[in-house]
Amino acid sequence: MKAAIFESAHKTPGVFVQIEDVPRPQLAGGHVLLRVLACGVCRTDLHIVEGDLPPLRPQLIPGHQIVGEVVEGATAELPLGTRVGVSWMGGADGDCWYCRHGMENLCDRPTYTGYTVNGGYGEYVLVRADFAFPLPAGLDDVHVAPLLCAGIIGFRSLRVAGVERGERVGLFGFGSSASLAIAILQSWECEVYVVTRGEFHRKRAASLGATWVGKEDEKPPVALDRAITFAPSGEVVVSALASLRKGGVVAINAIHLDHMPSFDYDKLLWGERQIRSVANMTRQDARDFLTVAETLCIRPQVRVFSLEDANRALLAVKEETEQGSAVVVP
Ligand SMILES: [Zn+2]
Ligand SMILES: [Zn+2]
Repeated sequence: MKAAIFESAHKTPGVFVQIEDVPRPQLAGGHVLLRVLACGVCRTDLHIVEGDLPPLRPQLIPGHQIVGEVVEGATAELPLGTRVGVSWMGGADGDCWYCRHGMENLCDRPTYTGYTVNGGYGEYVLVRADFAFPLPAGLDDVHVAPLLCAGIIGFRSLRVAGVERGERVGLFGFGSSASLAIAILQSWECEVYVVTRGEFHRKRAASLGATWVGKEDEKPPVALDRAITFAPSGEVVVSALASLRKGGVVAINAIHLDHMPSFDYDKLLWGERQIRSVANMTRQDARDFLTVAETLCIRPQVRVFSLEDANRALLAVKEETEQGSAVVVP
């Protein structure tokens, strides 16, 4: 099968992955083999191929927003031909302290799709059957793909921040994840304040109904109850913190931050303000979000690339040039 391979030892500037012919994965117990229909490109993929996240395998097929159909290993829950989605959380051991306490997102022995195991930048992928979600029929392959990480983890960020109906919520950075989260916030009748760089992102936030939109050096005109940061930047976290009321929460939706600058505890964190990170997702987050997405008819903007153009798709995410989420189709 054709696949985009990341080799950690061979780095060529501008070339993240190589398109190669590799053997189709062999079916294994507890798994299903999927024919990939589409795979979303996430910023985390970029962190992997750029080495921000340490390489765990010499050769890797990235991609963790997979839409595929079951072609081997069918089960009663996942009959042959079922269309399923697979996200970053590709498995958990089920018996560590975290798994036993309903926090499988923090599992001590996790499987991360497209990082600890091969992902969806290929024609076929082997995934754990119990971490594959049947997808709602209302969303086509390329439009549901970006929901599978950007959407689910954006949704989890709202939960981690503790957003309640009608609150004032700041979104710092306005890429794929934030543009999906805003629809949910509106359905909860929240006021949404967006701080982001880039004229395109600001226009998009305004067109999606943000209460207020500002540039990266601007501060929302009101104190926020909650803030979610989407940029891989510690400076942005500090800006978000500076916008909170007492007792407010910042949730950081980033697997990697450039660095965390020092900040004034007395002014910014005192007053029971909190900073929380958002790590991975649970299967319940995925199921809940997919239900909400179908109810609200959440439909991301996408730009489709062929598998051969995987490098261009990754570059588009890096340069934030694309108007919409990049999706690779084999
Ligand atoms: Zn575990
Ligand atoms: Zn992701």
